[in-house]
Amino acid sequence: MAGSRDVTSISQSPQVLIVTGGSRGIGAATAVLAARRGYAVVINYRQDHEAAAQTVRAIQQENGRALSVQADISSETGVVRLFETTDRELGPLSALVNNAGTLEQQMRLEAMDAARIERTFATNVTGAFLCCREAVRRMSTRHGGKGGAIVNVSSGSTCVGSPGEYIDYAASKGAVDTLTIGLAKEVAEEGIRVNAVRPGFIYTDIHAKGGEPERMERVKKLVPMQRGGQPEEVAAAILWLLTSEASYVTGAILNVTGGR
Ligand code: NAP
Repeated sequence: MAGSRDVTSISQSPQVLIVTGGSRGIGAATAVLAARRGYAVVINYRQDHEAAAQTVRAIQQENGRALSVQADISSETGVVRLFETTDRELGPLSALVNNAGTLEQQMRLEAMDAARIERTFATNVTGAFLCCREAVRRMSTRHGGKGGAIVNVSSGSTCVGSPGEYIDYAASKGAVDTLTIGLAKEVAEEGIRVNAVRPGFIYTDIHAKGGEPERMERVKKLVPMQRGGQPEEVAAAILWLLTSEASYVTGAILNVTGGR
């Protein structure tokens, strides 16, 4: 057709996305889906180098663009290095998925010591805050950025409290919900949307970390849909919130819980 242009020939710089904890589980599914949608993806991880390398390979095999960056997000220097590496390797940041999260052995509150509670909050709360800080410094129009989107990965546990398992974890995710509400309002005029997803019971390795590898078999009966969720089902919700399809959505917290 006269005057038409081949869109594939128009050179566009890709959107740059950091997925914290992108090596496994929900983070890896999000990284893979984001790459399919055209994002250049930084896959952050803490220690499992092989898992991160495998996710990078999976993206590259589909001709996507990805690199892995080891950094413990509970450390301020680690977070700063993660974002500086992204600036250097891929260019200006457009999006962040604050997905890295941790929990510890299931126990009642009266058995918890301060060190455990602090470790949980260091990753799930301080880490999420620091990553948001670095993202806002780069994306806010107030600082010369072009805007962007942040999706925080909270948890359905904020609504039930995880009694007998990990109230510290559930409370840390409550802080992530509040971070989302406050930051969404703080940067709404600066081109940044901030939203969260609350996954329910999702098939990943996190349950084994709590000491119950078969937890999904027990808890899926509590779900109105009578099944656990797949990481890809959470990733789809995250991607919707990240992209311009959700252009008028900010401060939202989306349950991805099968109705629970
Ligand atoms: P997962 O399979 O255990 O994977 C956790 C990921 O986070 C890994 O990539 C891990 O890297 C990384 N990570 C953990 N601590 C980190 C730190 N301090 N710095 C950098 N990376 C770190 O977990 P998942 O189940 O996919 O969970 C992803 C998110 O969803 C978490 O925030 C979790 O709380 C939330 N969530 C999960 C469920 C569920 O049922 N699965 C439900 C609700 C909410 P390494 O392997 O290298 O340590």
